[in-house]
Amino acid sequence: MSTEALRIVWIYPDLLSTYGDRGNMLILARRAAERGIPAETYEVRSDQSMPHTADIYLIGGGEDGPQALAAQRLIADGGLHQAVAQGAAVLSICAGYQLLGHSFFAKGAKCAGLGLLDITSDRGETRAVGELRGEIDPRLGLPALTGFENHGGRTHLGAHAAPLARVTGGIGNDGQTEGAWAGKILGTYSHGPALARNPAIADLLLRWATGADRLAPLDDTWADRLRSERLAAATPA
Ligand code: GLN
Repeated sequence: MSTEALRIVWIYPDLLSTYGDRGNMLILARRAAERGIPAETYEVRSDQSMPHTADIYLIGGGEDGPQALAAQRLIADGGLHQAVAQGAAVLSICAGYQLLGHSFFAKGAKCAGLGLLDITSDRGETRAVGELRGEIDPRLGLPALTGFENHGGRTHLGAHAAPLARVTGGIGNDGQTEGAWAGKILGTYSHGPALARNPAIADLLLRWATGADRLAPLDDTWADRLRSERLAAATPA
């Protein structure tokens, strides 16, 4: 890994990539490049050791079996823990979000998580499937979140994690809050290439990783249009 470029790691694409999670890596690299920030991307499979010197880590969604295996391997590896201790930024999605917590359920069994986010996940009575919308924590200064969710688990936040958003449509963690954040770690139930629908979150990660206060604006007309359309579709006539 070079020392100058921004290093982006996609964690375990062989296990956690249910809804095209690769898109998040591509979007981050593209939005960095458009600001003249050189970025390198690394796909680290579950049979490889996890580098601890990257700047941004991405961990995606997955079915119960791969999710449990990914958690076991990341705990045994320790590289992600070390990276977070060194100040790396993390975007975690659905199964990846759940496994960053203290525990989660997969195939009916309680599994140990990495303990990097102060959350626990248990089983919901129904699957949460469909559009997800929320007002993001105002401290993050981002527009409303929109996305697609598909998960069985429900997530409870401890005192050391703040909700990423207040739910205005869909379920998220529990029908009230959606996702979580603490330090430079973000978790969301908004699936797959969540950054395509929420490019402001990509820029937040880039700001966290580079230390920049602001980044040059990009043309996000299409993402803005889609967000307006989804939010308007949610408003009762
Ligand atoms: N297996 C987890 C659940 O159902 C995560 C699913 C996912 O990532 N879509 O809660």
